[in-house]
Parts: sequence; structure tokens; C-alpha cells
Amino acid sequence: MATACVTTAPPRLAEPAIRQLGPSFFRAVGPEPLPEPHWVAINDLLARELDLDKEWLASDEALELFSGNADGGDIQPLATVYSGHQFGVWAGQLGDGRALLIGQTPDGQQIQLKGSGRTPYSRGADGRAVLRSSIREYLCSAAMHGLGIPTTRALCIAGSPAPVYRERTETAAVTTRTAPSFIRFGHFEHFSYAGEHRELKTLADFVLDRFYPDCRASEQPYLALLQRVVRKTADLIASWQAAGFMHGVMNTDNMSILGLTLDYGPFQFMDAFDPAHICNHSDGLGRYAYQNQPGIAYWNLRALGHALLPLVPDAESMKRTVQTYEAAFAHAVGQRMAAKLGLAHASESGIQLVTDLLALMARERTDYTIFWHALTQHMAGSSAAPLHDLFVDRAALDAWLIRFETLAQQAGQAHSIARMQRANPAIVLRNHMAQEAIERAEAGDFSLVEELLLALQQPDRAPAGHPEWMRFPPDWAAAIQVSCSS
Ligand code: AMP
Ligand code: MG
Repeated sequence: MATACVTTAPPRLAEPAIRQLGPSFFRAVGPEPLPEPHWVAINDLLARELDLDKEWLASDEALELFSGNADGGDIQPLATVYSGHQFGVWAGQLGDGRALLIGQTPDGQQIQLKGSGRTPYSRGADGRAVLRSSIREYLCSAAMHGLGIPTTRALCIAGSPAPVYRERTETAAVTTRTAPSFIRFGHFEHFSYAGEHRELKTLADFVLDRFYPDCRASEQPYLALLQRVVRKTADLIASWQAAGFMHGVMNTDNMSILGLTLDYGPFQFMDAFDPAHICNHSDGLGRYAYQNQPGIAYWNLRALGHALLPLVPDAESMKRTVQTYEAAFAHAVGQRMAAKLGLAHASESGIQLVTDLLALMARERTDYTIFWHALTQHMAGSSAAPLHDLFVDRAALDAWLIRFETLAQQAGQAHSIARMQRANPAIVLRNHMAQEAIERAEAGDFSLVEELLLALQQPDRAPAGHPEWMRFPPDWAAAIQVSCSS
């Protein structure tokens, strides 16, 4: 894809905003070059949103920049420092061990390379990312965005034949990610636990002024900040639960202060519905199982609240603020699940209906995405809808459908098929779909990555040329093991 032509218009990147906070927050470090870089994928939709020149993006200069092979010009790349709780245990200092901020766009999007080599925070690891995990992040972040779920984005992947050693020898890749900020709960924990309260305040002021400026009007701006993060996190987790998405590694260093889905690793979309499903092969105890995600987010918010203690009036007000999570989550998930039923609001009977449905689905191990899509088609009057084929206990389904149809009728105008269609996608990125794209890409064919990207950007449509993406996962999918190794 790279051409030898001279570039037209390289992006006007400025220093990443976090640089203004001073050297306590980052270390300047250049990327480590990769041999023989080549394009694996470019997200044209995001490139347009970022106002990147299409011709420039196809140039050698762009490939050099986004593979970490450019010297960076005027802007010095930097790695930020953070700490965090991993699997419930304080892990101490972590930091961007394989990620570098290389600039920000005129409208403030931070541009980050992931897998661009070692940094002062690599802790003995290689600073690299493999092609496999890079494709998973690239596709899943596009899928989440397509579903309307807040997330970091991925602009492109550059690959290289350079070997990277994981359970097997793989090859290296660099993903270019964008977000308004990559600041994590762990950034706050870092300065708080180190007793560096001046830096903690500097960081909180930065986040407040940039992202939550209305909190300044509050008598307690840092409590107001915490309150906003509680709300954003509750909304995020509600959207995950409704989509059947499991993150897999909800450590506090993977929690975004903006409520974005961040750091895609062993994630999975639910196949057969099992609330106890564990998607991360390294998570033996199931800390991050589907049904635990809401409670873990609460745990993480408590950790953030503790980190903010030096800035708030007292522990009681901090606790009260964090406790609002429970009601915020209940409301948010109620709304999301109501939307899946086509309802404008979550009523008590609507919530009971969802609870009973999920219990039935758990008993029957009903495919989560296929069920909701089939229910949507059933309500739209499609006779081809295979809804009943999904259940052994059809009498139980029929009894539930009668209750649902009654509720929908009573709701009148407040029930909408269009709402169901938006909330119940035709496709999600299942593990086996990513796996096929990865295996093809590892053999040098990137076409499936592109086709999946385009399909996932419009998840409410049946994917052109790939009816199989709407079907049950094949038997071999159950054997896919996804761990923290990336
Ligand atoms: P993760 O499990 O990907 O959220 O990463 C946890 C921490 O380990 C972060 O500080 C990462 O930057 C760091 N890390 C993960 N993989 C690598 C790697 N291959 N090289 C350097 N640091 C890494
Ligand atoms: Mg991480």
C-alpha cells in the first residue's frame, strides 16, 4: 500500500497535552525502529474523522511514523507513568511499558503508538505487541464504536516480520490508537499512593479543566469530578453488559477516567449466555467474569475514590459519592436493557421481564447476540425469524413472549422496532471471527481484517458476503484460549 511519492499533507500534530504537566508525569523516549514495516490495516472512516490526508496516509512517511520508525521531528514522544491494582492486588508502578504518545490533533485527540518498543516502564518486558493482539484491538475498538459504546479508537496497524516471543514465536505490529485522553484510574493511584499530593492535584486539575469543566462550579470540584467518573463508568459497564461484552482484565490501570473501553486484551462477546462466563484464560477465579463486571467497576471506583482522598473534604463524602454507583448502574443498565426490548424506559415489569429472560437464556445457554437479533425480527413480523429454534423449552419462551408482547402493546408509542434494531446488532466480533482474520493476516492476507472492519462499523446490517458472521460460532471456537499474553 505504501508508495514512494512525496507526502502531500502530513497531519498537524502538536505536543501531547499531558506534557504541560511536567516531568513527574512522563519520560520522553523515542520508539524502537522495526525492520521492514508494512501496512496491515487502515481505518479510513477514522482517518477522515481525524482529517488525515488520504494520500499522505498511503505514503512511506506515514508508514514510518506509525510503525515507530520516524525520528519524530519536532515532537518528542513520551510514555506516561501510572500504577494500579491488578486482580485486586496493589501492583505498584506500571506505566506505558509499550505505548508512546506521539502528538495530538488540532481538536485534541491524543495519538498513541502501542507496541513501539521499550520505555522506562517496560519492567523487563519487550515493549512489543504481536500482530494477533493488534488485530483484536483494532477490530474490537471499531466494533465497540459501531455499537455506540465509548472506546478508544484504532487508526491503523503497521506490521513487521520482526519476531516477538510469546507462548509461540509471533511477529510484531504497532497499532496507532486515538482518544481524547488515555488517563487511567491508575494515574491517580500512582501519585496518591506515592504521597505526591501536589502532582495528584495537578493531574486532577488537568482532567477537570479539559474534560469536566462544569465541575469547577461545584463547591467541591474534586468530589464533582469523582461523581462524573462514577456516572461515566456506570454507563460504560451498562453498555458492556447489554452488548454481552467482557473486557477480561478490569484492573484499575485499564480503567479510563473518561469512561472509555480501554486496553483490549482477552475480551470476548458472549456466545451461549452464561453469566459466569470467564473470557480470560489467565483469570482462573473468574474475578472478571461477565456477571462480576458491574461489581468490579464499583471496586475500581472505590480505589479511585481512595486515591482522591487527599483532595476531598473527608472520607465520608468520598464514600457517599462512590456509593451513587449502585443507583447509577441500575438506572443505566435498566435503560440499556429496556432499549433491547424496544422500550423507551425501564419499568419495574420491564426489568422483571429481562431478569426472567436472562434466567431462561442461562438455563438454555441461548446464543446472546442471535437471540436478541431474532427477537427483533420476530417483533418486526419476520416469519423467517428462527426465534423458537433457539430454545428447547419452547413453552417457557412462549410464556415469556406473551408477557413481552403485552408489555409492548401497553407501552404503545413508547415501544419501537427501530429502537430494538439499534440495540440488537446483527453481528458482534466473536473470538472465532477475529481468529480467522488473524490466521489469514499471519499468512500475509489482510483482506478479512478489512472486511470485518467494514461490517463491524455497521453492526445493525447483515454483513455483505458473510452470512456466517450472523450464525452460531463453529465448534472449534470453544477451544480458542485467549489470555493476557499480547
Ligand atoms: P496490560 O495487561 O496490557 O494492561 O499491561 C499491564 C502493564 O504491563 C502496563 O504497564 C503495560 O504497559 C505493561 N506491558 C504489557 N505488555 C508489555 C510488553 N510486551 N512490554 C512492556 N510492557 C508491557
Ligand atoms: Mg493495560
